[in-house]
Amino acid sequence: MRKLIAGNWKMNGVQANLPQLDTLAKAHDNASVDVVICGPATLLGRMVATGLTIGGQDCHPITSGAHTGDISAPMIADTGATYVITGHYERRTDHSENDALIAAKTAAGWDAGLHVILCIGETEAQYRNGETLDVLRRQMDHSIPDAATAETTTIAYEPIWAIGTGLTPTPDEIATVHAALRAHLTARFGASGTAMRLLYGGSVKASNADDIFALPNVDGALVGGASLKAADFSPIITAL
Ligand code: 13P
Repeated sequence: MRKLIAGNWKMNGVQANLPQLDTLAKAHDNASVDVVICGPATLLGRMVATGLTIGGQDCHPITSGAHTGDISAPMIADTGATYVITGHYERRTDHSENDALIAAKTAAGWDAGLHVILCIGETEAQYRNGETLDVLRRQMDHSIPDAATAETTTIAYEPIWAIGTGLTPTPDEIATVHAALRAHLTARFGASGTAMRLLYGGSVKASNADDIFALPNVDGALVGGASLKAADFSPIITAL
């Protein structure tokens, strides 16, 4: 699998922001890594038109029906988007999403032909109590469906306390966690688990990207705030 830099625009982005994507598309036309922007549902079709690879940020577990305000995986695919995020901490918290629901959303993403970026991460209290690896293994066991493969699925480790805070684990801590995630994925999925991309996310920026990308078992990043402007995001892409 090629390495991956994914931007998550979260609840940001209106038409006036689209030129940022034109700039990115031009600058990274021949990138040796995959570059994806996961945008707001309102802009997906317009974002696809820039030529960049585009993803959604969430999908409903079923394909259609009476679910006001929700968006299904086939609807995301219909815009031309090819990725979707599931299990982001902000969905887990703001919308009380649990691992079983995230597994169902992940399977729905695959069924629609989307590549799923499935997020896991521990709270600050869990980190301080030394529970990080237990929490992450539990999240992986319950939110990654058995049918996951490296072609259909990327795992993003996002420590909740590192999201939007400017804080990150130390390089040693990230390397330790990613080694444990890799071992767990390989034990469960065999060669596909060894090949499955493992992203780090949480306060990634140009100034720390080099150190993070140098670590073993880090196959890219999921970037929030620093993905909104091409000038901030481009150096992160180049660092991978
Ligand atoms: P920040 O890069 O803004 O910390 O956000 C990380 C994130 O949640 C990406 O999904």
